[in-house]
Amino acid sequence: MNDVITIADLEAWLRQSAEDLDTNADWLTALDSAIGDADHGTNMTRGLTAIVTSLDSISFTTAQELLKSVGMTLISTVGGASGSLYGTFFLEMGKAVPAVTTLDGPQLEQAIRAGISGVVTRGHAAVGDKTMVDAFEPAVAAFSLSLARGLPIADASAAAAKAAADGRDSTESLVARKGRASYLGDRSTGHIDPGSASATILLQSLSDVLGRKSA
Ligand code: ADP
Ligand code: MG
Repeated sequence: MNDVITIADLEAWLRQSAEDLDTNADWLTALDSAIGDADHGTNMTRGLTAIVTSLDSISFTTAQELLKSVGMTLISTVGGASGSLYGTFFLEMGKAVPAVTTLDGPQLEQAIRAGISGVVTRGHAAVGDKTMVDAFEPAVAAFSLSLARGLPIADASAAAAKAAADGRDSTESLVARKGRASYLGDRSTGHIDPGSASATILLQSLSDVLGRKSA
């Protein structure tokens, strides 16, 4: 069997993410109220709602076109730090894939890596700075290792989601060095970073969608 993800899988991922971010919106906002400005849940819900609206009205013919459009939608609708960072994530993912209708494991890995590089280039955060990068970086490492071991994309995605969750949990004891939470200095410890929580939800949604497909 050819282990690839299709445009329909990407769309299913985004629709699932919209649902899961909406379910967790109050939690994300509560996390952001502790160390930010209490808008992360509403920011993410607004962005993903706009993405679902565009999926309902546009028929995307390549993965590249879909991912770039998602990035642009996030940049134009979300605002805040996360709008430009998640927007960059999807735009760079889109730029990294050829104009194709399916992605194999290595192509998906390359796209996710490019997305994370875009986030790092834009936000200058490293692992340990208490941002979404603390979830993203270990996730792509786990994805890559799983593929190298010969696991299918669905299993690699599950490993990525698990690594992201561990990274998210690791942010609780960290001092924020980037973004709004960094204004609090040492007082930012003892709270999970909201962006690491939303990044984990995105990866868990991907794993859930691909897990259901391969079941
Ligand atoms: P804002 O901080 O503008 O209110 P959000 O609340 O939507 O935006 O998003 C905050 C999240 O964005 C943080 O929890 C963090 O994960 C992420 N973030 C902020 N600044 C950076 C950065 N420079 N690099 C990476 N991620 C960042
Ligand atoms: Mg905020």
